[in-house]
Amino acid sequence: MADQAWRRVLKDSLTSVTQLADLFDFDPQPLLAVEAQYPLKITPHYLNLIETVGDPIWKQCVPDPLELTHDGLIDPLGEENLSPVPAVIHRYPDRAIFLVSGSCAGYCRFCTRKRKVGCPGLALSFKELRQGIDYIAATPQIRDVIFSGGDPLVLADSVLEDLLARIHQIPHVEVMRIGTRVPVTLPQRITEELSVLLKKYHPLYINTHFNHPRELTAPAAAACARLADAGIVLGNQTVLLRGVNDQPQVLLELFRGLLKMRVRPYYLHHMDLVQGAGHFRTPVSVGLKIMYHLRGRVSGLALPYYVIDLPGGKGKVPLVPNSVRRRGDTLIIRTAAGEDVEYPDLPA
Ligand SMILES: *Cc1c(COP(=O)(O)O)cnc(C)c1O
Ligand code: SF4
Repeated sequence: MADQAWRRVLKDSLTSVTQLADLFDFDPQPLLAVEAQYPLKITPHYLNLIETVGDPIWKQCVPDPLELTHDGLIDPLGEENLSPVPAVIHRYPDRAIFLVSGSCAGYCRFCTRKRKVGCPGLALSFKELRQGIDYIAATPQIRDVIFSGGDPLVLADSVLEDLLARIHQIPHVEVMRIGTRVPVTLPQRITEELSVLLKKYHPLYINTHFNHPRELTAPAAAACARLADAGIVLGNQTVLLRGVNDQPQVLLELFRGLLKMRVRPYYLHHMDLVQGAGHFRTPVSVGLKIMYHLRGRVSGLALPYYVIDLPGGKGKVPLVPNSVRRRGDTLIIRTAAGEDVEYPDLPA
């Protein structure tokens, strides 16, 4: 029953630039070519968060002619080469991504998988999902399966449960994770029924995807509380986005707010070299400066790792503001307050 309610809300999403242009009274013409290449979907909840044209919510969900610039990599993380079967990305020995859904509740303009997410004809078939399960079952090194896509939580409860149950019963899989932006864009989807279902598949971790403090709404907080009450450990992955959240004050408010919602900031991702999303990139120095600013100002629990995911499938590497210099056996360490303090190290 409740399954139907959120589906109805999702169906009411805005999916064309002409609808958008009517609503905000602008000329849709320059956006038609963008829409033809990269799909548009904005849920009623997320649409309501827009306060003004061009604000941080708008930038994340409304197409921009800059998306047609050829300035990046179609597959920035080399994922296609790391896919033994279409539904699995296997880069690290002990972890694998299981692509269970080709669509999302809303489309983020900066998405790393914008080459395929939401594109008609690229959704995975049941046969491909079965192949994915078979690959994971036949690969004993895999201990951690990350459900991703697309967004796994746009699947119907019955489909999601079937997939979770099949992976859960593989003896070498020790934990499962779900990556989802649904608590941000479609919080109604986190129903009581869903949390009862998920609770059966512990240990289960969920990583949400909040990027801006204005996304921390009361319905989003209620969705996270429901998941946390089901014993699910919640983390958050934020993407550092130019003009959206590339200010220390914005991320400070976001990370503090997440902690209050029982969500632990996990990663701050440096923006990938995605084709069609170059306008969201910042210099790495911006991210490092923000991390330096946050250290000492917020609870250590509110501090994510700032990571860069290297092109060609080379993986994630944490970037840390450099605070250590050496003079002989003496280390000179810069404190959060900016003071240099000497520390007598042992000879190596
Ligand atoms: C990010 C990622 C993971 C998960 O990495 P963690 O650091 O364990 O969160 C796994 N596989 C791929 C391909 C990834 O990009
Ligand atoms: S929810 Fe995730 S997968 Fe979907 S468009 Fe946004 S970033 Fe991409």
